[in-house]
Amino acid sequence: MSIESRSFEIAAIFRKEVLAISAYKVADAHGLIKLDAMENPFNWPEDLKLAWLDTLKDCPLNRYPDPTAQELSQTIKRIYQIDDQFDVMLGNGSDEIIQLLLMALPNTASVLAPAPGFVMYKQLSDCLGLNYLSIPLQADNFDLDLPAMLDTIKHYQPSVIFLAYPNNPTGNLFSHSAMLEIINLAKGLVVIDEAYAPFADASFIGTLSDYDNLLVMRTVSKLGLAGLRLGYVIGRPAIIEQLNKIRLPYNINSLTQLSANFALCNHTVFDQQTQKICQERSLVFEQLNTLTGINAYPSAANFILFRTPTEQASRIFLAIKQQGILIKDMSPQGGLLKDCLRVTIGKPEENIAFITALKNCL
Ligand SMILES: *Cc1c(COP(=O)(O)O)cnc(C)c1O
Repeated sequence: MSIESRSFEIAAIFRKEVLAISAYKVADAHGLIKLDAMENPFNWPEDLKLAWLDTLKDCPLNRYPDPTAQELSQTIKRIYQIDDQFDVMLGNGSDEIIQLLLMALPNTASVLAPAPGFVMYKQLSDCLGLNYLSIPLQADNFDLDLPAMLDTIKHYQPSVIFLAYPNNPTGNLFSHSAMLEIINLAKGLVVIDEAYAPFADASFIGTLSDYDNLLVMRTVSKLGLAGLRLGYVIGRPAIIEQLNKIRLPYNINSLTQLSANFALCNHTVFDQQTQKICQERSLVFEQLNTLTGINAYPSAANFILFRTPTEQASRIFLAIKQQGILIKDMSPQGGLLKDCLRVTIGKPEENIAFITALKNCL
């Protein structure tokens, strides 16, 4: 039969949830100063690069990777002082861990997260046809609306609750006591997403032993290894065991295992870089708030969310881009993000270029 005479319908093949969503879009940053994706702007010192290449030299690429990434998992446990009563599962970015967790739920399950929040929670829930519930944060300080969260938990009993700590895209740490109330009331899992832990000086790792429904998820992406794609989740063996069943056997490739292990064993380099980024964050924050019409929100992460004059966000975003700097326009998401832009902290000269570009278009 010829292609013309057959009737083949895409819509008859794929699930309606898949047909309904749009792909996650990544902006083209070619030729631009890239301050849109929470990457660490600093490179490695030359001697560290050479030592890294040396460890890769004998990597057996003809063999499948270690399916459990033993050495890397042990390094993570050692460096972050994770108690032996907990297990660690690695993912191809923490995005993959979110996906695995949601794939393991019944298709009638509810998933809860505050809004605005990390977009992949909703994207992946929608794709799987789960009931995604989002509760707006408080408008003045972006903290949790605790009564609304507790009501929703009682009413829907979500199987998973995501709390990003610090939150993306608002940058703040939610109230610790409010989070504990949520974990206490929830009958489902509570995932504390600590993607920005390197910049925050706050963590729930020490709280893991107090609750049986708690998971802490982290990534090396924002620390400075976004290109490796490595995230991990820490929790009770009984939970991790279930997740491991749906994880693909070789999800962490050999080069990532070796490179991440090498990098974490040399973590003082990243500690210095993240310290520098935090210093720069204070400078950018102060400078933003001296600009008339701009209101920057305090951040415990490596980015700053700021509000622009009414209906100006997209114009300002484009004007900054025309000056060679890519940040992120949050205003199309609406809600609390109306009029908001988000800038990732870069190198000192990049931050100065950003502030100058912003001044030019106010
Ligand atoms: C960036 C980010 C992630 C995803 O990190 P990857 O490990 O790169 O997939 C997860 N959660 C939050 C809140 C993030 O901002």
